Amino acid sequence: MLLNLLFPRNCYLCKKPGLYFCTSCQKKLPIKKHQYRNNPELSISLFAYTPAIRSALHDLKYRFVTDLAQELATLSTKTIKTHYKDFLVHWQKQNFVFLPVPLHRHRHNYRGFNQTEILGKLIAKNLKLQYKNLLIRSRPTRPQYKLSKKERLQNLKKAFSFSKKEHPAPQNYLLFDDIFTTGTTLSVCCRVLKQNKALNVHFLTLAR
Ligand SMILES: [Zn+2]
Repeated sequence: MLLNLLFPRNCYLCKKPGLYFCTSCQKKLPIKKHQYRNNPELSISLFAYTPAIRSALHDLKYRFVTDLAQELATLSTKTIKTHYKDFLVHWQKQNFVFLPVPLHRHRHNYRGFNQTEILGKLIAKNLKLQYKNLLIRSRPTRPQYKLSKKERLQNLKKAFSFSKKEHPAPQNYLLFDDIFTTGTTLSVCCRVLKQNKALNVHFLTLAR
């Protein structure tokens, strides 16, 4: 990929060339502790939303740095295997389906790709979990961060639906998004899944 050649591969923290997160800086990335809630039963955010993680996700989103996706996926996998081994075993045994939060196709086309899907696909493969795209965004939504809680819910109401190509099945889901902001998007997606026979829905986000 030509863009990868133009994009310098330096550590986001110490600027050393080679990796986007060099081996010594990887250890310094603050890990976010998971939390239990009523609905969903479990929500895990892997990293604190520090400036380095923010820049990396921004570059992935807007500059199409594909090898950065690989590296973030590897880093996420490593963190899950180290810090959340028990959950991983549970997801594997209970056949959790790894599911990305969808991007509306207008935005999808504009950028050419959905970074959540790309990251999610790589992480799911690393974790040996089945990956599926079962949710679709039915209409464009306004950016959530500009809105109040009430407006956010209104904005997202009916924004997501279950794919017509798939039959809803009693199934466990691991719902994935890159950033946990307010959790409203994930909750709305969770509700759609529950209306379509979902058993347990867990949340996994890269940063919070
Ligand atoms: Zn470094």
